[in-house]
Amino acid sequence: MVKKRKIAILGSTGSVGRQSLRVIERFPDLFDVYGLSCQHNVELLSLQVEKYRPKLAVVADPQSFLRFKNPPNGTKILPGLEGILELVSRPEVDLVLNALVGSAGAFPTMRAVEKGKDVALANKESLVMAGELIMPQAKRNGAKIIPVDSEHSAIHQCLKAGRKKELKKIILTASGGPFWKNPGHLRGGITKKKALSHPTWEMGEKVTIDSATLMNKGLEVIEAHWLFGLPPSQIQVLIHPQSIVHSLVEFVDGSVMAQLAPPDMEIPIQYALTWPHRFPRERPNLDLAKVGSLSFDLPPMEGFPCLNLAYRALERGGTMPAVLNGADEIAVEFFLKGRIKLAEIADIVEKVMNLHNPLLHPNWEEIWEAHQWAQEKGEIFIEERTKD
Ligand code: MG
Repeated sequence: MVKKRKIAILGSTGSVGRQSLRVIERFPDLFDVYGLSCQHNVELLSLQVEKYRPKLAVVADPQSFLRFKNPPNGTKILPGLEGILELVSRPEVDLVLNALVGSAGAFPTMRAVEKGKDVALANKESLVMAGELIMPQAKRNGAKIIPVDSEHSAIHQCLKAGRKKELKKIILTASGGPFWKNPGHLRGGITKKKALSHPTWEMGEKVTIDSATLMNKGLEVIEAHWLFGLPPSQIQVLIHPQSIVHSLVEFVDGSVMAQLAPPDMEIPIQYALTWPHRFPRERPNLDLAKVGSLSFDLPPMEGFPCLNLAYRALERGGTMPAVLNGADEIAVEFFLKGRIKLAEIADIVEKVMNLHNPLLHPNWEEIWEAHQWAQEKGEIFIEERTKD
């Protein structure tokens, strides 16, 4: 019998976290839930703790932590980032699933690979901000980073068809979100509700807004650069509204490998958790006859500057991707509060990037300083715009 892997799920109350627990539940012989963490949702975390009886549960937000009452015997509850870092450092933990939202996920990824833990990575900001530090650290310590993001999971799978030197390029697909055919809509008063209604995927709020502006694809390009060690010129993006082909890999002989599956995050989550093995999954399989046709398009040239901004940030390198991400985080936060329009997210990010002189090969502190700086600058620009 295989030894059960002890798993820590960061962000267990979010969309990916909840789906991960569903996957784990189907394989009681493979996994043991060692730890869970949430940001605010103490109510759901309590239910999860009751059900899975982890050794450790963390409530990242200190105020919400105070609301967690009466953990069952055998479960310790800790607050804050410190609690998360303790969880991923525990010697018993074999695998960390990082499904935290935004920049908050970067530090736990770094700590996990420092401790030699394998990471199933759903938090793309970790590599966007600090891929230059995290990837070599993982390699030194023998920690594997297995992508959970559907596109990177697809590429991880397709790459098995050839060697690195035989690779020509990778192609990330993007659903395009709800507005890619009508970029004019972005300038209008798109409501939060409309922007949050993604046509094919069910995801958290931040990712859904980033999908509508194509920033999500931009962040994924940067993530792919670090995961697969490819220059931006070898990473292409295609719009594929059906979200059936999750990404493709082109080899030097002209062969293109694609991974297809229904748009269901449980598939890439299961792949990441059980890799290098595959296990059966009892769900309706992909019915291509029902899907009928698959279409592909170049990304829209106008109305979606975020994708180009991300390529620009990657080409400049150093602290620029952290600045792109920091400015986007603050702008999305203000969009969700109803303070700015969807199209203004790109304006804010571009303005902040234009002011930044990137530091090349930054250390950990310098990356966080750049992130902080971008958030402050972004907020100043937003306040200026919304004054009158
Ligand atoms: Mg994705």
